[in-house]
Amino acid sequence: MCDYIPLSVPNLKGNELSYVTNAVEEEWVSTGGKYIDIFEKNISNYLNVESAVACQSGTAALHLSLIQCRVGFEDEVIVPTLTFIAAVNPVKYCGAYPIFMDCDDSLTLDAIKLKEFCEEQCSFINGILINKKSSRKIKAIIVVHVFGNLANMEKIMDIAKRYNLKVVEDATEALGSYFKDGLYKDKFAGTIGDFGAYSFNGNKIITTGGGGLIIAKEIDDLNKIKYLSKQAKDDEIYYLHGEIGFNYRMTNLQAALGVAQLEKLEDFIQIKNDNYGLYKELLNEVEGVRLLDFNENIRSNCWFYSLILEEVNIDRNQIIKKLSQNKIQTRPIWGLIHQQNPYVEAQTYKIEKASYYYDKVINIPCSSNLKKNNIIKVVETIKNILLKQER
Ligand SMILES: *Cc1c(COP(=O)(O)O)cnc(C)c1O
Repeated sequence: MCDYIPLSVPNLKGNELSYVTNAVEEEWVSTGGKYIDIFEKNISNYLNVESAVACQSGTAALHLSLIQCRVGFEDEVIVPTLTFIAAVNPVKYCGAYPIFMDCDDSLTLDAIKLKEFCEEQCSFINGILINKKSSRKIKAIIVVHVFGNLANMEKIMDIAKRYNLKVVEDATEALGSYFKDGLYKDKFAGTIGDFGAYSFNGNKIITTGGGGLIIAKEIDDLNKIKYLSKQAKDDEIYYLHGEIGFNYRMTNLQAALGVAQLEKLEDFIQIKNDNYGLYKELLNEVEGVRLLDFNENIRSNCWFYSLILEEVNIDRNQIIKKLSQNKIQTRPIWGLIHQQNPYVEAQTYKIEKASYYYDKVINIPCSSNLKKNNIIKVVETIKNILLKQER
């Protein structure tokens, strides 16, 4: 399939095969082994944090983070509606309820509406934020750094501090993005809130096949998370368990892939930034569309590129279909979570921009092995589809 251009595929041309082969040869394939330790250590160094816990998926990372936020039965958690559903489902795993927030023009959580909601729709009594409508306690905020952009963490952390809310950063799409100035200068996505969750699913900037990682501001929280991820085992020999744990630990095979992928992360980010720049330049010449900007004060990992259909006479799905006929894989942005079957009853707050962007965003090919002529073909094809429509 030489001329098929996929949306986002892994790039495994470094030491992946050699490390995985070594793990197999040494017969350490399960949840113990040297690569897990190396992976955790190397990624901690990269992120400038004390330590990290590798787990089975980004979803598991978010679940364990929420548990350690003490989100429990009948509590509430503020979440974005414009995200992948895995950012929200763990709220329900905890027996809690999501409250859906809007996004701003960066597609990340709208900090102004968040503040407004806490001020006007809640009461703050004895250090506890109570949702007036449901009378339930609000315990945490899940912030998603959508497509490698960074949410407005200064404002969000401010609000969280004022109302005693825990912050879980869903940095599954933003490994390597960091602030270039401001209060959080040089801080990476995921290292600012109380917890940071990462994913190494096949489409993410680096992959372990499937996998995740958790970091925490408090080392005690992180140790507890590690314990829970390994079935809460108190005694290795007698199999004594202090709590209900989970089978969430990463395997050595996954970690072997991860160690090799991490060696390439900065290269991938450079390529993705360069490709984004080329797309941006070429798409400037195409009328009616633009490429979504990454915030100015950040170094983004430029994970996913979002084409915004501003003034076009053709429906989003038609464009996707025509691109597909030209062997170019694109996709619409996620269905808004508050409109999905499990969440139609959930509370929402002034969702406007998310609905606006829902119809207007197409994610275009962004793999790190994309060639210059692939990018030119994608832009030319988009241009032709739009031109034909005008006639
Ligand atoms: C990928 C992703 C997740 C989940 O990660 P998995 O490793 O697939 O469980 C969660 N949130 C967002 C925003 C994601 O993009």
